[in-house]
Amino acid sequence: VIATAAVSMALSLAACGQAGGGDSGDKGSSTKIGLLLPENKTSRYEALDKPQFEKAVKAACGDCEIVYNNAVSDVVKQKQQFDQLIADGVKVIALDPVDAAKAAGWVKDAKAKGVKVVAYDRAVQGADAYVSHDNNKVGELQGQALLAALGAKAATANVVMINGDEKDPNAGLFKKGAHSALDGKVGKIAYEASGEWDPKVAGEKMSAAISSVGKDKIGAVYSANDGMAGGIITSLENAGVKGIPVGGQDAEVAGIQRIIAGTQTFTIYKSPLQLAPEAAKFAVNLLKGKDLGAQGATDGVPSTLFTPVVVDKTNIQTTVVKDGIYKAADLCTAD
Ligand code: BGC
Repeated sequence: VIATAAVSMALSLAACGQAGGGDSGDKGSSTKIGLLLPENKTSRYEALDKPQFEKAVKAACGDCEIVYNNAVSDVVKQKQQFDQLIADGVKVIALDPVDAAKAAGWVKDAKAKGVKVVAYDRAVQGADAYVSHDNNKVGELQGQALLAALGAKAATANVVMINGDEKDPNAGLFKKGAHSALDGKVGKIAYEASGEWDPKVAGEKMSAAISSVGKDKIGAVYSANDGMAGGIITSLENAGVKGIPVGGQDAEVAGIQRIIAGTQTFTIYKSPLQLAPEAAKFAVNLLKGKDLGAQGATDGVPSTLFTPVVVDKTNIQTTVVKDGIYKAADLCTAD
């Protein structure tokens, strides 16, 4: 009797076109969610994004398993990691791409295999969902904060801009937003280059800027993020340039420490307590075939974009400390 029931069940599944699917007999694979982050020179990914994403997925889906990998800035490596997840039966991947244009092709392939992709922080064309901050606004806030720090000196100041990696669409948005705030308001953008999201490269570009503009002629430095600001500030210190505004992004612990020490002027806080849980929600809803719950759409992709916040020495306590991202004790340096 049991055998007959099994046969007729198999037949009815076949009739519905459901038999023989990738999931058959492999319940484990359908509870796996992939998380692929782009690099590890910027501390946010492994210090904040990964643990917050894991925590939020666990809260939304008790039996979900997260498969994590970091591309360490290597697009070839990230492609292998992406393909491996699919080969392992992962059905939803949260992808923060090293190279967004290339990743758009991978998303197409994934779609053909029934795998869904959540674009995490950096947009990817054709993704099933996208979660990030208003990245043009990030750039605008950076430019405005730099202007405010320059005050009356803005009109004649030579500003150096060290932007992010152009393969990351966010880098272009930050740059555009910052230009919209600075252009016509500062003396001039005296030097501009990509620091490739690499503190070492950014430091080298800063040294080149000092040689080209002159060490006493630089009024302020725009660094697209805190990681690069670290390399930039070291270059400025080595050249004996002191007391000029330098801004970053990410509210990294080292960035906040430099703000307290007075070597960095501000950073942009993009709360991982908003981003990671929203991405986790999208991933779990895609996995379970539920409605996404996105707040809007960006280039046709359902999306939620959060609002970034400027942090300077006046509001460290009421932002990152209040949110529990850091304890006050984490932020105290030896000096
Ligand atoms: C992120 C920044 C990060 C940068 C470098 C950008 O896409 O939005 O928070 O600092 O990449 O990884």
